[in-house]
Amino acid sequence: MNLFVNGDISTMHLFQVTPDELKDEEEYEDILEDIKEECNKYGVVRSIEIPRPIEGVEVPGCGKWSHTDIENIHILIRIELTKHRMPHPNACKEMLLIDRKLGGRGIIDIQSLRTTQIQTLKHFFHSKQTNLHKAIVKADKNYTQLNLSYPDHDGQLFPETEGFMLATQDQVIATQNYKKYIIKDPSITDDNCRKCHQQKETIDHITSGCKTLAGTEYTARHISAAKVIHQALATTNKLIENTYPYYNYTPTSVLENDRYKLYWDVEIHTDKTIPANRPDILQSKADKMTYLIDIAIPNNVNIRNTYAGKISKYTDPAMEIKRLWKQNKVTTVLLIMSVSGLTPNTFTQHLQQLGLDEKLHKVFQKSVILKTCNIVRSFLNSDK
Ligand SMILES: [Zn+2]
Repeated sequence: MNLFVNGDISTMHLFQVTPDELKDEEEYEDILEDIKEECNKYGVVRSIEIPRPIEGVEVPGCGKWSHTDIENIHILIRIELTKHRMPHPNACKEMLLIDRKLGGRGIIDIQSLRTTQIQTLKHFFHSKQTNLHKAIVKADKNYTQLNLSYPDHDGQLFPETEGFMLATQDQVIATQNYKKYIIKDPSITDDNCRKCHQQKETIDHITSGCKTLAGTEYTARHISAAKVIHQALATTNKLIENTYPYYNYTPTSVLENDRYKLYWDVEIHTDKTIPANRPDILQSKADKMTYLIDIAIPNNVNIRNTYAGKISKYTDPAMEIKRLWKQNKVTTVLLIMSVSGLTPNTFTQHLQQLGLDEKLHKVFQKSVILKTCNIVRSFLNSDK
């Protein structure tokens, strides 16, 4: 629908209605009247144009693009490419959309284009301060694809990153192992890891199994994710005031007020050994409750084992801390997310257990996924 308001031309596909409603003469008149009335509150409406569907004719500006529409276009592209023997038969469809440098086909992803368009339009409406724009933002409760009344999600990933992660999950990144066994590239004789030379260079190896990355890259990813939780605990419990973006946040070893005490990376002295990662510890003074918070980022297949293993490792230390610190209860909270952002379904419950907003799941996921992407990218760009 095009709106021309006070000579200021704003083209907005808003107040979307179904094609059937527009075909019906009576309903069409009603819609026109409603919109005119609404817009007149903000200035004189010179004219209103609503594209109406015509049987058998494609009218520009009509309709919403659904995921199925877009997927159908992709299918057409793939059929066309397959006719010309373009995609490798063993490669999954996401390969087509991945950057050529990363071993993909570099075809423009219509889904991403659409996402970008939506983001740009959303940003446009959210940044405008006129009453009309504000009213539109307020009124758009999923009427349009912009869904302007909903705030943007914190965990939004760049479409490229999302595509990259899909490929990681499908194990189709151009590792030595992939080239040798899947693409059957004859020039690859050795599919061992280019860095440690000890194990096969698979995507799992790069994202979580390589010794040479353990002390540096994987630790950095772990710290980045742990900071998200620490910062949230500190702000929620009023231990710090300002909220910085998590990636600029530097945790303090001990934060304390009259109700809570929060530790970051502090060694605890007990007779029992605390597992290798030092847990974050939150102590609620009034009810003498202590939470041992451990964060782990295993590869996708190891989520379940990691969870079970950690639980048993913390049983003794938890009892010990309960006794030494004279607590009523010591609870172990495990926040586990795979390198590509998958979590056990207990993840949200654990956030709630700590009094944290479940939206934090997205922020946490974003921090993990971005780090994993960086790890894989710089690995593949490094010399063989
Ligand atoms: Zn390695």
